[in-house]
Amino acid sequence: MRLSRYFLPVLRDTPKEAEIVSHQLMLRAGMIKQSAAGIYSWLPLGVRVLDKIAAIVREEQNRAGAVEVLMPTIQSADLWRESGRYEAYGKEMLRIVDRHDRDMLFGPTAEEVITAIFRDCVRSYKDLPKNLYNIQWKFRDEIRPRFGVMRGREFLMKDAYSFDLTADAARQAYQRMFVAYLRTFARMGLKSIPMKADTGPIGGDLSHEFIILAETGESQVFCHKDLIEGAVPAADTNFDGDLSGIFADWTSKYAATEDMHDAAKFEADVPKDSRVSARGIEVGHIFYFGTKYSEPMGARVQGPDGQLVTTHMGSYGVGVSRLSAAIIEANHDANGIVWPVPVAPFEVGLVNLKAGDAETDKAANDLYAKLQAAGIEVLYDDTDERAGGKFATMDLIGLPYQLIVGPKGVKVGEAEVKDRRSGARDTLSMDAALARVIDGVTSQRVLV
Ligand code: ATP
Ligand code: MG
Repeated sequence: MRLSRYFLPVLRDTPKEAEIVSHQLMLRAGMIKQSAAGIYSWLPLGVRVLDKIAAIVREEQNRAGAVEVLMPTIQSADLWRESGRYEAYGKEMLRIVDRHDRDMLFGPTAEEVITAIFRDCVRSYKDLPKNLYNIQWKFRDEIRPRFGVMRGREFLMKDAYSFDLTADAARQAYQRMFVAYLRTFARMGLKSIPMKADTGPIGGDLSHEFIILAETGESQVFCHKDLIEGAVPAADTNFDGDLSGIFADWTSKYAATEDMHDAAKFEADVPKDSRVSARGIEVGHIFYFGTKYSEPMGARVQGPDGQLVTTHMGSYGVGVSRLSAAIIEANHDANGIVWPVPVAPFEVGLVNLKAGDAETDKAANDLYAKLQAAGIEVLYDDTDERAGGKFATMDLIGLPYQLIVGPKGVKVGEAEVKDRRSGARDTLSMDAALARVIDGVTSQRVLV
């Protein structure tokens, strides 16, 4: 993509309304623009990040055996009356009346919609297990939307729903999502820590939140340091097999958010030098809730003996739009964002220091063509802005590599490569510079 044709409205100054660094940087890097309180437009750079995050979520859901659907944003209140949640959900639900005076709502979650689909389409235990997910916008009329997309009112969520014949099978479904989540966040370059959680209004008796560590996190967390250093399950993990061992390993060490924290137990269970107390951001939340929705809504299947059995359900959320901010909280420096390769909006920023100069244009255009031919996602700054401005923008938007071409280098056949994370700069021959960024990008695309 040529920057001259792109839409990248960067801001030089830090917007006063943004309190935390991810919100400041998302506004400054031209990723998002506020439209109303807690409601944002996603600008091109932001859309690319959102798509990258969603693609990783999707790959790991599919790997774990979940199947993608797409449910509506607008739901009928009648479904929520069936489950008994319509009144109970409270003011966070945005209620709408259509022209025929029917009560509708903007979905804050989709247990009711998916349970209705399941009960109408699935009849036999032979069709189980099932796990259906979608990546769809949700609306929750948060009392205090803040921190940009971190706590918005409209936000993108991946929500998956599992259906099983027995409580035991449902626990296995839960473990598959648990392992998928460990992989999902690690692939984005994040360390996530699963913490036993309250089930809240979703109900049920088994629940974990996945928290990533960042100084500006909304919650205080306490855990054993092994959970931060632990190796994440590999891509060839057998999701059709028994995952209880992995699950037990990851849930045997102390980890708690402040609401669940037990200081005495923390001190008794965790040696002093292994105690971590830090701020964290919730990026995912999984629940097993048995028959809470399947019972009132009649999601039953015929069992092996011909009797109708009420299915056991779980639900599994990932904050896709929140993750774009959480990744920035965990990856930035004084000059801007430092994207991990797998979620970077572009992998390389190609900078032409003297656009309009025939020789420099020729060399930069040649590198641009070669990067594209190698399948690298490149943002090519072909504008005539001054060099200082170009460097500042590249650092701000945080692409993993910068490939810098200027008239002096071109005369001797050289270009400069800058690694955004380490700050290291190297002047290399054109071919070596090209090889360096291609190798760097391709070796970091898949982290686990
Ligand atoms: P929180 O405790 O942060 O209010 P929650 O427990 O209500 O979140 P869930 O219903 O578990 O949220 O939703 C699943 C995921 O969706 C959360 O882990 C979070 O990453 C994301 N999420 C929830 N609310 C918001 C929001 N207002 N803005 C952005 N992302 C959100
Ligand atoms: Mg939660």
